[in-house]
Amino acid sequence: MVTLKSYLSGSWQVGNGTDSILINPSTEEPVATSNTKGLDFQAALVFARDKGGPALRAMNFSQRADLLKAMSRALYEQRERLLEVSRDCNGATRGDSKFDVDGATGTLSSYAKLGAKLGEHGFRMDGVASNLAANARYVGQHVLLPRPGVAVHINAFNFPAWGTFEKIATAILAGMPVISKPATSTAWLAYEMMKIVIDANILPEGALSFIAGSSGDLLNHLGPQDVVAFTGAASTAAMLRGFEPFLHKSTRFNAEADSLNAAILGPDVQPGDDLWNLFVRNIVTDMTQKAGQKCTAIRRVFVPSEHVEALEESIQEGLYGLKVGYPTEKEVRMGPVASAAQLRDVRLGIETLAKHADIVVGGSEPVQGLHAPEGKGYFVAPTLLRAHDTNNPIFHELEVFGPCATILPYSGDATQGASLIARGEGCLVSSAYSNKRDWLREICFAAAPWNGRLQLCSKKVSDSALPPGMVLPNQLHGGPGRAGGGEELGGERGLALYCNRVALQGDRLMLSKLLGSDI
Ligand code: NAP
Repeated sequence: MVTLKSYLSGSWQVGNGTDSILINPSTEEPVATSNTKGLDFQAALVFARDKGGPALRAMNFSQRADLLKAMSRALYEQRERLLEVSRDCNGATRGDSKFDVDGATGTLSSYAKLGAKLGEHGFRMDGVASNLAANARYVGQHVLLPRPGVAVHINAFNFPAWGTFEKIATAILAGMPVISKPATSTAWLAYEMMKIVIDANILPEGALSFIAGSSGDLLNHLGPQDVVAFTGAASTAAMLRGFEPFLHKSTRFNAEADSLNAAILGPDVQPGDDLWNLFVRNIVTDMTQKAGQKCTAIRRVFVPSEHVEALEESIQEGLYGLKVGYPTEKEVRMGPVASAAQLRDVRLGIETLAKHADIVVGGSEPVQGLHAPEGKGYFVAPTLLRAHDTNNPIFHELEVFGPCATILPYSGDATQGASLIARGEGCLVSSAYSNKRDWLREICFAAAPWNGRLQLCSKKVSDSALPPGMVLPNQLHGGPGRAGGGEELGGERGLALYCNRVALQGDRLMLSKLLGSDI
């Protein structure tokens, strides 16, 4: 068993409480222990603020980009080992492990490229200078300066690699030191990656710290320049928002929470069309990739009533022959959910939805995973439901965070479709499929404000559109309302979370000299 250590105040440490045991979700064997009790989180914050912050702020974007590039390389060199840890840590198939681990190195590398472009500056200008007086001398210029605090990253269990490093990439490039905390149940993979990066001595002292498990009293010690970037359940986000530093010190809090993402088919698309096939492919991918444990996965499938049966058949075909099991063998296309708690929640969620829907395929019954020990492992069948009543609030409120989606028949009318999407009260991403521009326009402007990202699929992109569940470093990740109201990534936009916007007013020439560029 691996003992997960935390890296705080420049050293690897283990707590003095009772160990939390991490379990391989395919076999239910213990794989690692985590223990953070008694660790000095307040000192860790001070160390990161006082050592890591100044060191990173003394560098320019190009130098910070070099750090990201070196991190990406160091991790890539150990890719094969990391893919194996991913399998035994969170039950991911090889494809799912690549999605997570390569997502981490890819995002580091993408932000390294961005940093190289931003070049020799240590901060960014925001817009151009404005004249503030009758003469041209007295001007105002907005700038984005890195916050002189610590970026605390709290991550969900489902992407221990990508979730950890997409946040680190943006914060370090912006110039903020990081304390990263993965979800305890799948912290092993994040720990192995962190060890590679820290032991390679790539980063200045204090720039990166790691908590292998519970973060104890850390949040109580946050200050006005610190930032928390949280990913997890909306209920946890709501609880954390009530912490004193967020209420009384304006410590910045960014939340990426859950989401009832939608896919909607236009009335013009017929079974067998290219767009139909894309729609079906995206639904099947999102039901099965990472056993449906993707915050961006399609949960609500809106389809014109006359096509419900054809869609059920097409999705069943897409799932045909899919093997669920211990992802050691190529034939296994879907692994288990990540923990016993997840298994319980997913089964309960399916049972709750099934009170108001028919199960088309799958269900909440126990599943014997292929190649898994008899009766062991947290396996669930990919489950498709058909709602009895599309307007029933349960389908717009209950996120079953597993391999589960629900078909919700609608009229095909764009106004109705957009208002149904909006009933999720804020999604990370939705996708719409049609060749009718008027229909797409109505969906676009009525549904876009309820989404962080909206994929509009027409025939011309049917062979090139990426699955909506795929988050890209240069596209915004986040969403309004229930999805947390946060923003991450989106290329350069992602840096803003870790910066303060300041309006500097003064003599144009003097400001040009101070800022190092003509304004
Ligand atoms: P969770 O139970 O809310 O946990 C998320 C994180 O919060 C974990 O690291 C957890 O640590 C930590 N946490 C809980 N209580 C805390 C406290 N008092 N102080 C500090 N940290 C605390 O969520 P999850 O089960 O890991 O993830 C599933 C949910 O995340 C789903 O609802 C999914 O939709 C959402 N999600 C959203 C996104 C997105 O980008 N929007 C991405 C992935 C997942 P411990 O594990 O140590 O308790």
